[in-house]
Amino acid sequence: MARYTESVCRLCRREGAKLFLKGTRCYTKKCSFERRPTPPGQHGVRRRKMGDFGIQLREKQKVRRVYGVLERQFRNYFREAETHTGVTGEALLQSLETRLDNVVFRLGFASSRPQARQLVSHGHFAVNGVATDVPSYALKPGDRIEVRESRRGRSAFKAIRETLASHQPPDWLSLDAANLSGTVVSVPRRDQMPLDLSEQLVVEYYSR
Ligand code: SF4
Repeated sequence: MARYTESVCRLCRREGAKLFLKGTRCYTKKCSFERRPTPPGQHGVRRRKMGDFGIQLREKQKVRRVYGVLERQFRNYFREAETHTGVTGEALLQSLETRLDNVVFRLGFASSRPQARQLVSHGHFAVNGVATDVPSYALKPGDRIEVRESRRGRSAFKAIRETLASHQPPDWLSLDAANLSGTVVSVPRRDQMPLDLSEQLVVEYYSR
């Protein structure tokens, strides 16, 4: 399975925004973007004026990188969103939000999406009682996600029990912190997805 392996902080500097890919570090003074908010590379500090295409491209890259999805898979998400009735941009974000790795992150089992992806890939979670190690697994309302019984004693899950008790997931998810599980209550509406992203620019990018 292909995935991005370079420095993720570079991506924040490239997109000119904090993408929160490193968990708790992103909220401290150690955040690379806080210290050097310029694009990476020798000529990063040079100011470049961006046209419409550049703005759309950067926003598409930003959304893709926030969710850790590679180009082809992201395009497939967009093509699928186009087939939905309703707003294409919102349907795109709904598909991304209901990925298993994102839900694991939103429920508070991981401090970042990359960490959630790793936990899922290592087979720590089950969906509706069935072990699932596919980060892109598409969840639907009613699906129950839980840390597998055999993995609950691991230090990673012992450590999160305390923080999980005070974690507030978004309205479209319900969390049972005591049982290390959660449920998808509904498909998220746009106002339930607190994202500083413009999905409309992504739609414009693919509609050229
Ligand atoms: Fe981005 Fe987090 Fe790195 Fe800061 S610490 S640059 S928010 S990934």
